[in-house]
Amino acid sequence: MHVPTLIEKKREGKELTDEEISQLVSGFTSGEIADYQMSAWAMAVFFRGMTPAETHYLTEAMIESGSVLDYPAGTPPKVDKHSTGGIGDKISLVLAPLLACDEVWVPMISGRGLGIIGGTLDKLESIPGFNIQIDERRALAQLESIGVFIIGQTADLCPADKKLYALREVTGTIPSRPLIVASLMSKKLAENLDRLVLDVKFGSGAFMKTHKEAKQLAASMTNVGKLMGVKVSHLLSPMDEPLGRTVGNALEVAECVETLQGGGPSDVADLVLDLAEQVSTASRATLARWLSDGTAWRKFISLVYAQDGDASSLEKITDVHRAPIIRPVLAQAAGTVTKMDAETIGRVSLLLGGGRRTADDTIDFAVGLSGIKKIGECVDAQEPLLLVHARDDHTLDSVLPLLEKAIEIE
Ligand code: URA
Repeated sequence: MHVPTLIEKKREGKELTDEEISQLVSGFTSGEIADYQMSAWAMAVFFRGMTPAETHYLTEAMIESGSVLDYPAGTPPKVDKHSTGGIGDKISLVLAPLLACDEVWVPMISGRGLGIIGGTLDKLESIPGFNIQIDERRALAQLESIGVFIIGQTADLCPADKKLYALREVTGTIPSRPLIVASLMSKKLAENLDRLVLDVKFGSGAFMKTHKEAKQLAASMTNVGKLMGVKVSHLLSPMDEPLGRTVGNALEVAECVETLQGGGPSDVADLVLDLAEQVSTASRATLARWLSDGTAWRKFISLVYAQDGDASSLEKITDVHRAPIIRPVLAQAAGTVTKMDAETIGRVSLLLGGGRRTADDTIDFAVGLSGIKKIGECVDAQEPLLLVHARDDHTLDSVLPLLEKAIEIE
């Protein structure tokens, strides 16, 4: 392999072969190919793109850079969901236990939040004791006993993606569709799934700002999944306002508990059911019953216990993590909510300390927003539009002007 030739080939917009991509990825993972060469190649991909075949080869090579989850023969179908991320997106915490009420296994490997986008692992870690780092042997035993785990990325899974993603972050090559597709799909497909549903979000609080971009991303991801023998379906869901009525780690866990007990905001429960029916063998009516009759809630309690979490804290999680300041933002006049901008709300949560600016920031589980009004709802003058949960007056004061811009009432 002559690396400069491969970089030049991509620079000229030509298609690389399976073998060439596989050599690039394995050489980069082993350290034989220098970061500056891989950066040049990633930039060539950024400008020239990749064919569907190349995207498939890259995904496969990234999976092969590490290990793949392995299951005993004759075990139930493995299913999962991937969301491209949004504000107040707490769906995994409800969906994973709900799916596991069916005859399927849910080996869910999730991520942490970064920037304005929250992460499933952070929400779970607000539950005292919850362990997101169980080893593969224990994770498999958990599938055998309760059908579900939710853990973090392990060092053995897709090491090439870990290394390439870090390089992309510092070389301006994150927003390349084929690189995004290979990065996201390699991590999910290393779970060795039978069925995967994608929740591709679009709007101000999403990675993809327009429906068209989200549709293109979903099509590329679906295509890679199909080429790798996995049944992939997708939903395109709007992210112009936060999902549900809470943003912030413990506040979102509380909303998940409500949803798992048959309540919660209708947009959360509806999206959970929309996604669940794509990969479950159970009907929507059965899935809805499992949400309302406590079956999914009991499964979630088993999941929390199985991963060392204190399930007795779940119904009082907002007392376990309680921000010192809880202040309403009031409507100045009566009317209908016409804007509750997701991106700004995400930024507010980040400023309050509920998110991470860099990968090693610590986060404050207690802070965030609750009681968020939904677009289309009517409010009276002086009625709370949301509650801000802040650690101190200084951060509260810094977010109030942003919230004023985020919300419109007509
Ligand atoms: N998240 C990832 O893990 N990979 C990408 O390429 C983009 C977001």
